[in-house]
Amino acid sequence: MNELTLSTDLTSRDNQPVKSQRKPAAPAYLDNRVTKSQRENKRTRSQRARERLRTKEHLAELAVGLGEVELAHKIERCHSRLSVLTCGRHIARIIPNFTCEFRLCPDCGRRRSRRLQNKYLPAMGAFMLHNKVTPVHLVLTQTHRKENRKQSAKRIKDSFTRLQRREFWKKHFKGGTWSLEFTKDKNGLHHTHLHIIGFRRKFFDIELLRGEWLAATGDSHVLHLKQIQDIATGLREVVKYVSKPLDIRRFGADDLREFLGLKNMRMFGTFGEFRDFCKDFEPSDNEGAAVGDLESLARDLVEGCACPQCNQPLFDLRMSAKELPQFYEQTESSPPDKIGTKWN
Ligand SMILES: [Zn+2]
Ligand SMILES: [Zn+2]
Repeated sequence: MNELTLSTDLTSRDNQPVKSQRKPAAPAYLDNRVTKSQRENKRTRSQRARERLRTKEHLAELAVGLGEVELAHKIERCHSRLSVLTCGRHIARIIPNFTCEFRLCPDCGRRRSRRLQNKYLPAMGAFMLHNKVTPVHLVLTQTHRKENRKQSAKRIKDSFTRLQRREFWKKHFKGGTWSLEFTKDKNGLHHTHLHIIGFRRKFFDIELLRGEWLAATGDSHVLHLKQIQDIATGLREVVKYVSKPLDIRRFGADDLREFLGLKNMRMFGTFGEFRDFCKDFEPSDNEGAAVGDLESLARDLVEGCACPQCNQPLFDLRMSAKELPQFYEQTESSPPDKIGTKWN
């Protein structure tokens, strides 16, 4: 098990008293964060595809155990047969036979997070153009209590609402997006974090914000803030919690039962002036093209089209989900002219 994940780091920090002798949390968190995403980037597509398969098997088993047979069938069917448009070297588009749309399904989660990125990235770009703001990634945490996931989520969202009503917040932030991240520690206690992309109006001392968060929560001053250099990367980082709401490896039957009860809980949203901006925002052709809406571009691709990466003609390979990791492996390791032959 990975000991250096973001969640374990934040978890241990939640336990610390406010007047800790330790150094401030932010630098350690940032360091881990970099290490973690670097590590994630290092994982190959084939490894990630295998992981998704394992996660789905695990979820389906848990669902059967709970008597949720229909849900298990849906998860098993989801993305089980694929039509892969490929030049042999690159994969331009994957069309699944069926999507279950279950919130914990890693395949559907990927689609959902891509949809969110395609929707909000143009709006963020335009918002930043029209306003003098700097995007920052803010992680808000709370002390842990004996409560269920729903109560934990409600508590942190209520605290954030109180924070937004405070003068300091209004003076320094012009809205943004939020997403929820759930983690659980070894003792089974829930830790819920809010990941915010905030549009900062002007610079401020981080200690002041800690004080504001303490005033809003009553007992937690722990937060982390870093400036976002590239808004596309920043958005991808926060929507990943929408596609991976929690660590499925530590997920048991009780967790699934509880999660099924959360059906209508929102995991992602907008707030403040950015929310109003999104209501009226229609991306112009330019703005759409500038962010490269890959999903809608890929949607137009069919067999015989040129591969967007190398211009070779695309062909349609039918395969099962279990064959996909192996196909990724081939595209990762074989010389271009050898690839695809086995699959024809
Ligand atoms: Zn699915
Ligand atoms: Zn290609």
